[in-house]
Amino acid sequence: MSVRVKCPRCKGKAIITNSNDLAKDIKDVFYKELYVQCVEKDGCGARAVFGMEFKHYINPPQTDVVSMARKILEQQEQLNIKGV
Ligand SMILES: [Zn+2]
Repeated sequence: MSVRVKCPRCKGKAIITNSNDLAKDIKDVFYKELYVQCVEKDGCGARAVFGMEFKHYINPPQTDVVSMARKILEQQEQLNIKGV
């Protein structure tokens, strides 16, 4: 993933100098803190921390769709067996 950031104060060029992956072992979660330095020529020179997070899926992972369909079919078969 390639990300460009701007300085929140002067909106000049900024670079990511470091990052912390706070959710690296948690499935379906992504949250990183990005340490940013303003490097704009004649800029403000501020240093700041940005948060970058995963919000939600637009399409769920393919494996989730297949297992969801399988569960629905199993439930349907059980209903048929019970004669409902
Ligand atoms: Zn700046």
